[in-house]
Amino acid sequence: MRLDQTQAQARPWDVIVIGGGHAGCEAASASARLGARTLLLTHKASTIGEMSCNPAIGGLGKGHLVREVDALDGVMGRVADASGIQFRLLNRSKGPAVRGPRTQSDRKLYREAMQQALSEQANLSIVEAAAEDLIIENGRCCGVIDGEGRAYRAGAVVLTTGTFLKGVIHRGHERIPAGRHGEAPANGLSETLYGLGLRMGRLKTGTPARLDGSTIHWDQLEMQAADDIPVPFSFLNDVITVEQIACGITRTTEATHKIIADNLAQSAVYGGAISGRGPRYCPSIEDKVVRFADRSQHQVFLEPEGLDDDTVYPNGISTSLPDAVQDAFLKTIPGLEDVKVRRYGYAIEYDYVDPRELSAALEVKAMAGLFLAGQINGTTGYEEAAAQGLMAGFNAALKASGSDPFILDRSEAYIGVMIDDLITRGVTEPYRMFTSRAEYRLTLRADNADQRLTDKAIALGAASVSRETSWRQRQADLARAREQATTLTLTPAEAKRHGIKVNEDGKRRSVMELLSYPDIGWSDMVRIWPELGEIKPRVAEQVEIDAVYHGYLDRQQSDILAFRRDEGVRIPADFDYAQVGGLSNEVREKLIKASPDTLGQAARIEGVTPGALTALLAYLKRRPAGAQTA
Ligand code: FAD
Repeated sequence: MRLDQTQAQARPWDVIVIGGGHAGCEAASASARLGARTLLLTHKASTIGEMSCNPAIGGLGKGHLVREVDALDGVMGRVADASGIQFRLLNRSKGPAVRGPRTQSDRKLYREAMQQALSEQANLSIVEAAAEDLIIENGRCCGVIDGEGRAYRAGAVVLTTGTFLKGVIHRGHERIPAGRHGEAPANGLSETLYGLGLRMGRLKTGTPARLDGSTIHWDQLEMQAADDIPVPFSFLNDVITVEQIACGITRTTEATHKIIADNLAQSAVYGGAISGRGPRYCPSIEDKVVRFADRSQHQVFLEPEGLDDDTVYPNGISTSLPDAVQDAFLKTIPGLEDVKVRRYGYAIEYDYVDPRELSAALEVKAMAGLFLAGQINGTTGYEEAAAQGLMAGFNAALKASGSDPFILDRSEAYIGVMIDDLITRGVTEPYRMFTSRAEYRLTLRADNADQRLTDKAIALGAASVSRETSWRQRQADLARAREQATTLTLTPAEAKRHGIKVNEDGKRRSVMELLSYPDIGWSDMVRIWPELGEIKPRVAEQVEIDAVYHGYLDRQQSDILAFRRDEGVRIPADFDYAQVGGLSNEVREKLIKASPDTLGQAARIEGVTPGALTALLAYLKRRPAGAQTA
């Protein structure tokens, strides 16, 4: 429901979420789903769900986050399904643990679907305003003051201001204060956060030019089609109904690299104008030319921004060079010889808060009731933002009602991995998710996110009736399919008659055992037992993965149990590290600064040695009460 500022001011709120980006949308929805009276306060309602940079959702590691958000009944997966115009499952030829669902999105459809989803959410209201300051009383954050001095009060506040805190756009030697193209920065809030004494820093990111698709020579380009059968993000969807399109692939040339190298001094990034660090894994074209000087070309994906929009996003060439240099280097790329630019690329520098200031609930340790999520915490990417938003939204609502926080650990979800990385290690560059960050990635797969998380969402009271119904049905389907896969068996002789070769030891083998052979697949099983053909493809996929990963998963389970033992050893917030003998001053200082909640968290702080952990554990065990196993 949209409110004007006077109406919004007059009402009591449990939670106020500031910012309608990817973190903010998810936070507002999550808080409202828990029944908290939630206000989403954002600059412009029309930019809710805006994709500031690339029109795409998911990818390696990121697709896992979207599935987990969906399994917890968040909105991103459903919105991506409603607006995806080129679904592709990345790493399809590799193991299921590292496959990444991804889609290019129609920018407008994405925004509209997100705005629609929020407008249908009970307990959620939206107001247009610019937050300028926080209301702090008795050491607790209890509201927001907007640019006109109006106060809005709440039990908890979630800040999701993205790249807006003291944002400055850089292009060549131009400097424009902005949160992103055409939008004012948030300077007051940045001052407020500095005023709280939080450790903060500057980071940067960049975006490429947007091209006029009608001036691209598509006929000269290699084209990449969507998957024949698009796999939806949301566990609620079986099919994708949005039209699917192809994108073009081209490459930079030596001529491109020469123009860029000759003009590096004019690049905002390389001219020394930007102090903040950029994303190493999403480098600008200037970065690529300098860091990979031996490469004569870099791939560029030409991604249409929508079904009825011929603007093209050239993925892979973000830049902060001046307009004329952008024009010149673009024309050296095959297919772009006559291209017209609709909007030039730029870099943006902004303030972020050191995430080591946060608890695992994403609450600022030094300010009760204040939660942070998204780019403000030093991450990059829509999916990382959404996943944090979801958790901050839940926890703000729980805080407002005086309940315990909802935490996911590293063995339960990529969301847990990301939050733990952020709060224990901090960031030195914008943080993005990779499958390699998750030590239990065989268990934390995109395909089983619902099996890991949906029961938790239901127990929390965060899942809709339709989510619960659909999940119960899937659970029943899975149980039935697993039962069939263990009870249907055949002998080696019978297998041979069906053209399947196994050791002739006379032993009967189940479908599950047969599927663990590398050259035996589900279609072979259906050939032998036609009744298996009635099992839904997504359920059959699970049985196959269970069979193939069986031994590895058992081993991983024992690692997870060991991990949980350390996570179960709690360290009280007021713990006095001076009392622990055998800690070096350096380690002691690190522990005091990080104030870990558990022995496991302490182990992940850089520089905390195994010897220090043994000393800490021994001391914690000797403590009389309260401090031990949770
Ligand atoms: P945002 O999506 O930025 O949303 C912030 C929201 O807060 C906006 O709705 C804004 O209006 C609102 N807001 C801010 N301040 C206030 C205030 N004081 N009062 C009220 N409302 C406020 N990610 C990648 O993964 N790869 C990239 O290559 C990449 N390049 C980028 C390039 C640029 C130029 C930009 C701007 C971003 C880029 N990103 C990239 C980052 C991506 O856009 C963000 O990670 C993602 O949008 C973060 O989501 P968020 O919710 O934290 O913030």
